[in-house]
Amino acid sequence: MQYVFGPVPSRRLGFSLGVDIIPAKYCTYDCIYCQIGKTTNREIDRRSFFDPQVIINEIIDKTTKIGPVDFITFSGSGEPTLNADLGMLIRELKKNTAIPVAVITNGSLLYLEEVRKDIIEADVVLPSLDAVSEDTFRCINRPHPALAVEKVISGIKTFRKEYSREIWLEIMLIRNINDETIELERMKKIVSGIGAERVQLNTVTRPPSEGSTGRLQDRELARICKLFGPACEIICSFEKTAEIPSQAEWTDIIIETLKRRPLTLEDIVNTTNLSHFQAKGRLRDMEEQGLIKSYLFEDNTFYMAT
Ligand code: SF4
Repeated sequence: MQYVFGPVPSRRLGFSLGVDIIPAKYCTYDCIYCQIGKTTNREIDRRSFFDPQVIINEIIDKTTKIGPVDFITFSGSGEPTLNADLGMLIRELKKNTAIPVAVITNGSLLYLEEVRKDIIEADVVLPSLDAVSEDTFRCINRPHPALAVEKVISGIKTFRKEYSREIWLEIMLIRNINDETIELERMKKIVSGIGAERVQLNTVTRPPSEGSTGRLQDRELARICKLFGPACEIICSFEKTAEIPSQAEWTDIIIETLKRRPLTLEDIVNTTNLSHFQAKGRLRDMEEQGLIKSYLFEDNTFYMAT
């Protein structure tokens, strides 16, 4: 599989089949917390990266071979709205499968009407907004020079007016950068003006692009969650366990997933339904074969494809 990965346990979407329609690493941002690594192509111009029919065929083929999943999710190695075929892909999926479609986006291109139209048929859209002041925005997201935070906020607000389904807005909180009271108070005002069905607080729990990026403690997240009100939640644990893939399949599943995000042993146990003991043994073998590597971050061991 070239474009489809998983299904993987997702903190927000339960059990999700990932679709990656962006080459690593094209993005409109170069976030300091990015778990994929540094952006090599920071762009805002949309284009067709791959043959969309091949992507559709691959997704449909995969859905016929796996058990039930909660979502087909466009996410992956960069910003999915940079792919100009996204609208066609979503429309084709809606025609060919009953599985709900989710789009995880950084929201930066929602000021473009063509992007808003492209994702209007998704069942849920998950944009992010990590800052509301220009300095903080530049510090965290390191956007393409043509982007400004006002433009991003206004794009998300316009999309809200046009889109009747659910928007789940993610805020990545980073120690000493966007956890200051002034920024949070401003953020609260703007976020309540957007009117997302859910506001989801996250912090840096996976190895970030910049090693110095710090996470918030649980009690700090709880305090900020209270500040944002009843629509706000902290996203921090996997809730679902996967259907069991065959043993032959699971190595591929893990490698394809590890190419796009680092996982802990716990994540891999949830993805494969192997026991901890079995998963450890397989990971050790894969590491010895040079397929993956492991490293320590915040007291957790993460695995990543080499
Ligand atoms: S975290 Fe998302 S938006 Fe930020 S650089 Fe990585 S892929 Fe792009």
